[in-house]
Amino acid sequence: MDIQNNRQLIDSIDEQILELLIQRKNISQKIIKEKIQNNLSVNNFEREEEIINRLDKIAKGNLSRETIELLFKRIFDESKTGFLRKCENTDEVIKAINTTEPLLIAGPCAVESKEQIADIAQELSTMGIKFLRGGGYKPRTSPHTFQGLGAKGVRLLKEAAFNNDMFAVTEIMSIPQLEYLYDYIDVIQIGSRMMTAFSFLEEVGRVTAIDKKPVILKRGLSSTVTEFLHAADYIMKNGNTNVILCLRGIRSFEQIESELRFTPDLGDILEIKDKSNLPIIFDPSHTAGKRDYVIPLSKAALSLGANGLIIEVHNNPDEALVDGIQMIKPIELDKLKK
Ligand code: PEP
Ligand code: MN
Repeated sequence: MDIQNNRQLIDSIDEQILELLIQRKNISQKIIKEKIQNNLSVNNFEREEEIINRLDKIAKGNLSRETIELLFKRIFDESKTGFLRKCENTDEVIKAINTTEPLLIAGPCAVESKEQIADIAQELSTMGIKFLRGGGYKPRTSPHTFQGLGAKGVRLLKEAAFNNDMFAVTEIMSIPQLEYLYDYIDVIQIGSRMMTAFSFLEEVGRVTAIDKKPVILKRGLSSTVTEFLHAADYIMKNGNTNVILCLRGIRSFEQIESELRFTPDLGDILEIKDKSNLPIIFDPSHTAGKRDYVIPLSKAALSLGANGLIIEVHNNPDEALVDGIQMIKPIELDKLKK
């Protein structure tokens, strides 16, 4: 086999691919500009899905669907780079955060299905709760467990929130995820495991600088208060000061034998309130890891001055795919008032 000849062929194909990619990007950006002029959303995930489905059929297995998806999602993102626009409702979200005391955020650990999130959203909204949480991307300890529904989960969350006049709160773990789903997220959640990824925090600050979309930053599992506050600075320094700090328990020797999933870092509410003007909320669910402790810990956090709570609830906690053991039913949130 003539390797040299084949290499020349490959080089020529690569150049053609590159030329076509540039052509594609230019056409796609014309469409995006047109959409922006007409005040339409830059993202059209249904169309993207259609494209991938069509190409998958044409490829007839010569390229795996996974590869097609990976390549084309990157191509779609490339066209959109630099064209993200402000979410229309961000001012409304900020206003709701600033005027809701305590700020109550509730919803399942993970979005599991359209019906599940729609039912929970409806129940919460009739109780007057305005912020719906639910994970699409779940940072699970083991890669072999349910990882969330991904982008589909985030879209279902937003749909359920929108239909019930609520705001969608969800975790993203990468900038492409954030850019891809920007219009579907009202409040961005940065999880404990991501708190120490400083370049990620900087990027979140940069990407959200345009509309100052609120960001909940959860405390790292083993981070000190100082490290936590500096992590918030990484976001703020890059253009977005709408950061909400969230305490969620820390890792300590207690986890060797305690029933608590993490040690409740309640006292730090006091210290953070002394050191920072940012709103601070408490997550009793991940701290407790046990249903019965959720309400008492919530009450303790509020009495120490926390501005709000993020609580995991599920309509059928025993059947939940993730964190069922620490989830309560929506109706139990009523106990917060007693
Ligand atoms: C969550 O709130 O969904 C979550 C995974 O929490 P944490 O990042 O605090 O573990
Ligand atoms: Mn959870």
